[in-house]
Amino acid sequence: MDAIVATNNKNKLKEIKAYLQGHFDSIKSLKEVGINIEIEETGTTFLENSIIKAKTISKMTNAVAIADDSGLCVDALNGAPGVYSARFAGEPCDDLKNNEKLLATLEQKGVISYKDRTAHYTSVIVIYYPDDHYISGEGKVEGHILDHYEGDGGFGYDPLFFCDELNKTFAQVTLEEKNTVSHRARALDDVLKKL
Ligand code: IMP
Repeated sequence: MDAIVATNNKNKLKEIKAYLQGHFDSIKSLKEVGINIEIEETGTTFLENSIIKAKTISKMTNAVAIADDSGLCVDALNGAPGVYSARFAGEPCDDLKNNEKLLATLEQKGVISYKDRTAHYTSVIVIYYPDDHYISGEGKVEGHILDHYEGDGGFGYDPLFFCDELNKTFAQVTLEEKNTVSHRARALDDVLKKL
């Protein structure tokens, strides 16, 4: 079976391709199939947005499409930025501005101590088929938000997200290490069980 990954995010694409190798005959990016669109994420949950993205691409190509909708949920901010993680500091999306806004928001709210800065990443993966059925999987990983940047790998909030299980930020680990515990890898695991 061939599949298309419904994302323009190069980092997500890399993580998903690395994880799914061997499970599909071919996994192509939007660029590789000549699609250049920005899909509007109008949902209010990770699942809704993931379905929107996967369905749009499956309909356009008549092929199997895989989408991820994910985000960072900070407990002291009642789960924000959540589904709005990519555009937390407004559009166009900018990882550095998002990180700076997160640091400023926590400071303004007096959430200073490490123990109060708990957070998790969530990912919902949807695999959508041309016959209009889909399967989905969800994954989470727990951590803390640092008050400074550590590491220069990964993307998004990774230099601020200290992963409890790896004892490092996601920006300090290799892609392979990140894929041993990450929300996205766990969501992919969950969905693969249902394939
Ligand atoms: P989406 O494209 O609407 O799913 O937005 C996902 C956003 O959540 C990204 O732009 C990042 O800000 C954040 N995010 C999700 N997964 C990760 C991750 O693995 N590392 C860092 N940031 C992430």
